[in-house]
Amino acid sequence: MMGLALDGGLLVPQSIPDVSNQLSNWRGLDYQDLAFAIMRLYMNDIADDVLKSLINKSYATFDDPLVTPVNPVGDIHVLELFHGPTLAFKDVALQFLGNLFEVILEDEDSHLNILGATSGDTGSAAIAGVRGKDRIKIFILYPEGKTSPLQERQMTTVLDDNIHNIALQGSFDDCQTLMKSIFSDLEFKRKNRLGAVNSVNWARVLAQIVYYFHAWYQLGCPEKFNVSVPTGNFGNIFSGFVAKRMGLPIHRLILATNSNDILARFFNSGRYRPGDVQFSESPAMDIQVASNFERYLFYKLGQSGSRVTEFMDDFVRKRSVKINYNTRKPDADFISASATDEETIKTIKKYHEQYDYLVDPHTAVGIHVGTALHTDNIPLLCLSTAYPAKFEKAMNRALPGVEVTHPALAGLLDLPERKEIMPVDETAVRQYLVEHT
Ligand SMILES: *Cc1c(COP(=O)(O)O)cnc(C)c1O
Repeated sequence: MMGLALDGGLLVPQSIPDVSNQLSNWRGLDYQDLAFAIMRLYMNDIADDVLKSLINKSYATFDDPLVTPVNPVGDIHVLELFHGPTLAFKDVALQFLGNLFEVILEDEDSHLNILGATSGDTGSAAIAGVRGKDRIKIFILYPEGKTSPLQERQMTTVLDDNIHNIALQGSFDDCQTLMKSIFSDLEFKRKNRLGAVNSVNWARVLAQIVYYFHAWYQLGCPEKFNVSVPTGNFGNIFSGFVAKRMGLPIHRLILATNSNDILARFFNSGRYRPGDVQFSESPAMDIQVASNFERYLFYKLGQSGSRVTEFMDDFVRKRSVKINYNTRKPDADFISASATDEETIKTIKKYHEQYDYLVDPHTAVGIHVGTALHTDNIPLLCLSTAYPAKFEKAMNRALPGVEVTHPALAGLLDLPERKEIMPVDETAVRQYLVEHT
């Protein structure tokens, strides 16, 4: 529940269990039972029946019996992660997290104030995960005017007393930097009982591991498969990385970015150097410095916390670090490329025209890069991270005249909303928190 570790770093599990021998036993489990089997390996402080009911409650809000169904489309397999209440993959983790926090807080008879930064989908999914919960308040920082109107409305029209939306006049990186800075003040954090639900939270990574396994079973347990993941904060694909380390036979993790390609450049050159944030048609991925990347570094740097610290200190000082590998490509587990907005739009068009299948712009980035880089004669699984109706602007650009709607979004623009608009000013945000926690 603490989000960042006490020294400002990220938490990782003591060890990652190898489940290769259990894969055949888990065959045939439904999503909930598979989630229980996997999560159980990482948690020993919650009773079995409590964990089970938590999982059941969390995924009862999904509108597909498979929770995260795999859909064959042309030559690829699309893993649809958008069947939760806010229509984005973040619901998979955040429905669980809200219920998990509630159970722990009741147990400890305490309260929590969640502080989060979002480029769009995290905020609404986090809000949907905790709305109306007595022991939790949530404060969401998001870049004013940089999320899609529907995304913003998914947050600001939730009027429960425990929900606070703060629209900052800056970029998502500004929101994230400000949040990190507040969290690094441990005294302030403790006094105001602040916690995080951003993708730095380990429980989110954990919940996301489940669908990689579940998808593999839906594919019929192929000997190997490739997975393409549209990537922003490196949370989703990091879960895939953990699944692979657990023994799931993922051949390559295909990391797809939009024009914010710091990670694609890293996996092609070994150099980690941010550029300026570019605003794209896939706004949930308009991120330069990905928080979960630090976790990945831990495994790449021999599970040495001090080497990660050295790397990150270097990065903060020089804004450019090269990882010390002999080869140009730092990691054979990953292949990576970026997609332009034009390629994204073209992909949306192509899947609509050829297969009558609608993909959102983030998913399109993953499909474009995935199909371009995938050369192995094995199944290609493309993760679909949002329902297209959430991103009207890109969908209109790609498919003018085609109506793309979803009942969960209908009428959202007419509902009353509540938000607090603020400059990128840490003092002002702290003041607001003190007054409202
Ligand atoms: C958050 C998000 C992503 C990026 O996922 P990360 O875990 O941050 O890499 C991609 N697509 C959509 C729709 C998202 O909401």
